[in-house]
Amino acid sequence: MDVALYTHADMLDHRPGDWHPERPERLRAVVEALEDAPDLCLIPGEAPLAERCDLELVHPHRYVERILTLSPGRDVVQLDPDTFVSAGSVLAARRAAGAVVEAVRATGRGEIARSFCAVRPPGHHAEPEAAMGFCIFSNVAVAARAAHAAGFRKVAVVDFDIHHGNGTEAVFRGHPELMFASIQQHPMWPGSGRPTPADPPNIVNAVVPPGAPAAQWRKTFEGLMPRVDAFAPDLIIVSAGFDAHRRDPVGDAGQSLEAEDFAWATRAIVEVARRRTKGRVVSSLEGGYDLEALGQSALAHVRALAEG
Ligand SMILES: [Zn+2]
Repeated sequence: MDVALYTHADMLDHRPGDWHPERPERLRAVVEALEDAPDLCLIPGEAPLAERCDLELVHPHRYVERILTLSPGRDVVQLDPDTFVSAGSVLAARRAAGAVVEAVRATGRGEIARSFCAVRPPGHHAEPEAAMGFCIFSNVAVAARAAHAAGFRKVAVVDFDIHHGNGTEAVFRGHPELMFASIQQHPMWPGSGRPTPADPPNIVNAVVPPGAPAAQWRKTFEGLMPRVDAFAPDLIIVSAGFDAHRRDPVGDAGQSLEAEDFAWATRAIVEVARRRTKGRVVSSLEGGYDLEALGQSALAHVRALAEG
C-alpha cells in the first residue's frame, strides 16, 4: 500500500541547543532510513505551515500569538525546563503541526490512506496553554480537531511513546468524539497516565513498569486495541514515539523494545484500521533519541504501515 511521507527541511532549523537530545539529526536519521529503504516507495508530501485557525482549534489565541511572535534572534528562548526556541523554531513548529493536519486532510479527500509525518518538534506534551517537554504545538490533537472539519466523525489517537501524552489527553478530555489510547511507562516523567476509575470512556491509559520485558509491553499494548475497536473511529492517528526502544537515552533504557516490536504494534493498529477506518492511518513522529534505533524503528513502523 502507498504511504505518503510528510516532512520539510525547515524542521531541521529548530535548534534547542547542541546539548539537547531533541536535535535536528533525529529528523535526518528518520528521513534517511526511509529514503534508503529499497523496498519502500513513499509518496512525497510537503508539510505546510499550520494556519492560525487550525492551531486555535486546540490552543487559545493568546498562546498561539505568543509563540508566533517569538523572535529569539541568535539566542534561544526558554519556554519550560526542557523546551527551547531558536530562530527557526516557530516555522518548524508550524510545519510539524501543519504536516499532520495536511495528512489528515489528504486522507479525508481520499488521496491517500496511510501517511507518516516525519516532524519535529514533537507535540504530545504540549498543553493548550503551555509548551512542555520539547513540544510547542499539540500536533496530533490539532490534526484530530481538524479531522472533523474534513468530515471525520470519530478519531482515535494511539500513542506508544514511552512518555504519557499529557497534552493530547488534556485536549481530548473535553471531546468525547476523540479517543486517546496510550501506553506509557509508569512511574516516569511527566508523572501522569495511570488509569483511574474516574477516566471518561474516551481516555484509555495503560502502563508498564520500568524494566518491563517486551512481551509484557506487547500484552499491555494489545489490551488497548479492543477499546479502540469498540470506539469505532473512522480515522486513527498514531503518536509514534520510539523512545521505548531498549537503547533510548531519554527513555533511560526503561523499556526493552526493538524495531520489530514497533512493527508488531503498527500491525495491531492497522488491523483495527482495516475493520473500522477503511484502513486509514495517519502517523506522526513523537520521541526517540538514539539516532540509529530511531531510524530503524521508524523504518519498521512505516514498512508495517505499507504492508496493507
Ligand atoms: Zn517520549
